[in-house]
Amino acid sequence: MTRSTQLLLTTLGLALAFSSIAATWPRQTPDTNQFPVSAESQSAAAVRTAPVAAGVEPVRGDESVRPVPAVGRQEEPSLIPDELSVQAALQLSTPPPDLPLRPISANCPTPRSLMLHTHYGVERMEALADGIIAANMRTMTYREVLERLSRGECPPSNSIVVSLDDISTAWIDPIFEQMVAAFTDRGLVLVLGVIVGGPADPGAWTYLQGVHDLGIEIASHTLDHPNLPELTRIEIEEQISGSYRVICENLGACPVSLIVPYGSMDYGGRTMQSAWEYSFVVGIAGGLTIVGTPPYYVGRAGPNVHSIDLTMQVLDVAFGS
Ligand SMILES: [Zn+2]
Repeated sequence: MTRSTQLLLTTLGLALAFSSIAATWPRQTPDTNQFPVSAESQSAAAVRTAPVAAGVEPVRGDESVRPVPAVGRQEEPSLIPDELSVQAALQLSTPPPDLPLRPISANCPTPRSLMLHTHYGVERMEALADGIIAANMRTMTYREVLERLSRGECPPSNSIVVSLDDISTAWIDPIFEQMVAAFTDRGLVLVLGVIVGGPADPGAWTYLQGVHDLGIEIASHTLDHPNLPELTRIEIEEQISGSYRVICENLGACPVSLIVPYGSMDYGGRTMQSAWEYSFVVGIAGGLTIVGTPPYYVGRAGPNVHSIDLTMQVLDVAFGS
């Protein structure tokens, strides 16, 4: 084979691979210039593009493992037929009664979005809250963002969505409660990614109901925190729809957001298609624009554990403000 023939075949191969990805990725998913792949690639991109991000906290805790998508798995029949588009599924969905009918067509910048876990700690959380207030920024939940979109408004440019992952209804870690209080005591709001499978601590839903009443958003972090791309379509739907129902039934208000474990999106769009009950699918990489109709894919960035100022700069760089 000649060198020119090899080059031609390589070019054709790349073109086919690209068109295959483009054909399978759902249209609603993110801004097209940011393909959400993994936490690892996001961290690498952040470090490449932002000198201030040199001290960025490596994506730690449960989101640190790069998922390995299952290869060659035999798909099971789906609860949602493949030919049923996300758009068609949306028509079948029942929106939360206190929110307007979907779909809401949007094209807005994603607010600065910060991903936290319990190891961030209470002291940093208090410093972060003070920093947000000092910077005249406004904390916002995804539900509030949706309410603005329904009025044809984008979130204000000084908005920040802070989400705290991995709260489990099996047991509420007192550290989590103190971290949440660092915000609520200052009149700020945040989003809690709650794992809701299995037996619940009797006090867990009482606590979540209490903070919900203070404006905290209770988002689904699935039933069991699996790596969704490794699951079958049926299992993915069970994790996503099952957790939706558990929150509806126990909180008395259905969630608008699904925070994907490990920020791990599958190439085939099964997570997006299975999340038709939600308005937001929250990952890590990409998602810099709230675009199209729900569910909107939105991304997040991790904090710099050494400095609130650097965390703010990381967010500015990541979200283009
Ligand atoms: Zn998690």
